[in-house]
Amino acid sequence: MPKNLFPLDSSKSFPEQEIVGHNRWHPDIPAAVTVNPGDSFRIDCREWFDGYIKNDDSAEDILTAPVSKVHALSGPFHVKGAKPGDLLIVDILDIGAIPQEEGPLAGQGWGYTGIFAKNNGGSFLVDQFPDAYKAVWDFNGQTATSRHIPGVSFTGIIHPGLMGTAPSHELLAKWNQREGDLIATDPNRLPPLALPPEPQDAILGSLTGADYERVAAEGARTAPPRENGGNQDIKNLSKGTRVFYPVFVDGANFSVGDLHFSQGDGEITFCGGIEMGGYIDVHVDVIPGGMDKYNVKENAIFMPGNVEPRYSEWLSFSGTSVTLDGQQRYLDSQLAYQRACLHAIDYLSTFGWTPEQVYLLLGAAPIEGRLSGVVDIPNSCATVYIPTAIFDIDVRPSAGEVPRIDPGIGAPRAANR
Ligand code: ZN
Repeated sequence: MPKNLFPLDSSKSFPEQEIVGHNRWHPDIPAAVTVNPGDSFRIDCREWFDGYIKNDDSAEDILTAPVSKVHALSGPFHVKGAKPGDLLIVDILDIGAIPQEEGPLAGQGWGYTGIFAKNNGGSFLVDQFPDAYKAVWDFNGQTATSRHIPGVSFTGIIHPGLMGTAPSHELLAKWNQREGDLIATDPNRLPPLALPPEPQDAILGSLTGADYERVAAEGARTAPPRENGGNQDIKNLSKGTRVFYPVFVDGANFSVGDLHFSQGDGEITFCGGIEMGGYIDVHVDVIPGGMDKYNVKENAIFMPGNVEPRYSEWLSFSGTSVTLDGQQRYLDSQLAYQRACLHAIDYLSTFGWTPEQVYLLLGAAPIEGRLSGVVDIPNSCATVYIPTAIFDIDVRPSAGEVPRIDPGIGAPRAANR
């Protein structure tokens, strides 16, 4: 096992750790650890809400989850000699749940998926699912099952939802400007169009005093993916992945967090992977001048991991860019993917699962989402591929009777307020 350079004590909150991470992007957040190109090391990661979500049968915690506290990120890691214009190579050597038997923190034998309520973040299908729901998943080796969604099990493809390099001052200013402009077009929208800097609950490593106040007021939120990578939520960044990140500041200041035991393409319920804490072993290196050399000026490129579950049979659903009330939209792939997911939910609900159970399942299981057609005016076509092997019953259409599953206790819902 490589040396753990960012250990976390499971009995302490994220800001109380010996080495404190961060939950905003800013070039002036001091590096927590310095490493050399060529080094391999272990990093502990807290689940994204720092232990707020509990292993119980209530979704009150999803409803009240403090969005200003995310994401608890481990880092920044300063890679000696890395300069703006370089590409930072990050290899994922190993990744897993917190190596302990059982405990209160997600990652210690369990994880969770949440549908975020309309008044607290919302989700991909927020109009159809405005309330908060939760499913708790149990890990047995590589397999995930849930008492809240009976009749399904699948192999986790563990991956970090969020990795990235620090922005430069110039890049950060660009983010704040363009996202602020977007928010200004409809400032009271629910859910909001974007999240502006939020000093409340900002964790900024070792910063204190006036520097803390300034950086807290400017730091970009970690929810969106941006030019530095960030919260890309790519399920295929599993063990064996190599990512090439643009470097914007001296030392690159790499950070990582938001580990998922599994996730479906799109992370559609917002808290849509199986969220957990754990560890990640990485190897870092630098390609000097790599951004110009390969014309990668922004946004990471990657070689996906070589570990993934193998499924040979899929049941797939398609959608086009027509709204539920029949309005034609022009090549709207976001809408087309929503319609494909809603078709999958309608279909699978006929077997006895509630729509919320299916929605949570699509967020958590290794489903494949594709933009199948984007040029055939006026309809784009999006598809969602669901492996049939994750179900205990045969979910393929047939002339016979529809097999029924008992939905059990169902997915816990929180009373909206
Ligand atoms: Zn996540």
